[in-house]
Amino acid sequence: MALKPAAVLDALRAVIDPDLHRDIVSLGFVKDVAIDGGKVAVVVELTTPACPVKDRLKAECEQLLRALPGVTSVDVKMTAQVRSAANASGPVLPGVRNVLAVASGKGGVGKSTVAVNLAAALAKIGARVGLMDADVYGPSVARMVGGKGQAQATPEGMLRPFEAHGMKFMSMGMLVNDQSPVVWRGPMASGLIQQFLTKVDWGDLDYLVVDLPPGTGDVQITLTQSANITGAVIVTTPQDVASEVASRGLKMFGAVKVPVLGVVENMSYFVAPDTGRKYNIFRPEGGEAPYKRWGVPLLGEIPIEPKLAGLGDKGIPVVVAEPGSDTARAFLDLAQRVAAALSTVTMSQAATGAPIDVDAGGEQLQIAWDDGHISKHNFQRLRFQCACAQCVDERTGKRRIVLEFIDPNVRPKLIEQSGRYALQITWTDNHSTGLYTFDRLRQSCECPACVEGRAAR
Ligand code: ADP
Repeated sequence: MALKPAAVLDALRAVIDPDLHRDIVSLGFVKDVAIDGGKVAVVVELTTPACPVKDRLKAECEQLLRALPGVTSVDVKMTAQVRSAANASGPVLPGVRNVLAVASGKGGVGKSTVAVNLAAALAKIGARVGLMDADVYGPSVARMVGGKGQAQATPEGMLRPFEAHGMKFMSMGMLVNDQSPVVWRGPMASGLIQQFLTKVDWGDLDYLVVDLPPGTGDVQITLTQSANITGAVIVTTPQDVASEVASRGLKMFGAVKVPVLGVVENMSYFVAPDTGRKYNIFRPEGGEAPYKRWGVPLLGEIPIEPKLAGLGDKGIPVVVAEPGSDTARAFLDLAQRVAAALSTVTMSQAATGAPIDVDAGGEQLQIAWDDGHISKHNFQRLRFQCACAQCVDERTGKRRIVLEFIDPNVRPKLIEQSGRYALQITWTDNHSTGLYTFDRLRQSCECPACVEGRAAR
């Protein structure tokens, strides 16, 4: 019996995208099926050229198709088309499919280094990338990518972005000289961001990486209000115990519905070049990394690399200068994870994972989630699980409060959703600084099925 395209598609339904948790046929990834006798050729279009599981998916497709009766040869071609967020196209950045904000709680954690290398890694993997230096108080992107030349205008009066290492970029460092006083930059900062967003001819880009200033100021607000940011990553270091500041950043992105894709831990460890031994230099003794309490994933760990400063001064990202090095590989892995996380955001905007009903009127908190699950939480234990800095020691990760000392009759006075990822609860003991992320709430559900499931694991 002749092989039919339907049989090929049926076989490929067994291939599940691990990030999107759906099969590649229903996701619409299978673009072309050609059958010639026993020869089968399919084209699978992924959502990013930086897909971390491209080879695995290809191998799975090949194996399943080879197993079909009558198949003598299999040709699986993997292509990529970066998708836009559902609400992306608008008057601002019309050709840009994804805007990625790179943020940090404070300066000096390596945010610009991460932004530059992440952008360069995405470009290296084959994506069309732009890099916008919104860190107006310390614009280091121009230096880090070795930017040269004068700004040029297009015939339409737009500013042409500069180019380096296969990506487009724009930085105030290219427009003013180092002697310009920093003080005038403050009032101009948000205006400048508007100009970078609307008066620079970015053209068609898969990813526009935005290097934000540290903290949560005017620039962040302007950016989140003016452009549709697809996702944000937060750069920290193991000793970034001022994580209160970074978690304020999380809250800010949450409030403006920008998904925080996760955390990049920079200066995570040091590998001694002579022995190859790994040292966790900056991690406080016995301490837990602060991001672990934020309920967002770790996207990458970048080692301490003494060469980074020198390469930054020379204007060559390490992924370009030494692509085979461990540090470059850490950035390339990071780029793949970030690309996968952005695809997940753009592909699954309908399912937000958010609660559809929160009921604190009874003996316990009941949350109905959009997948139909109803989670249950004892008030006192939920109050005890608060992860804010008053309740948990920032440095050691140890809990500062004792369950038995919490009023057994404590209950929520007010429950508000914080962005797309957490609930903020004001309790009857007037404590209100804790965010309860959806992930954590799901993990701490006390319904019998969840309790049993956790015990079995
Ligand atoms: P930020 O943007 O957070 O202020 P930068 O990216 O400008 O930080 O980095 C500050 C300094 O730290 C720079 O000199 C940079 O070369 C250095 N640096 C950043 N990351 C690393 C690292 N992983 N290993 C060694 N030095 C680093």
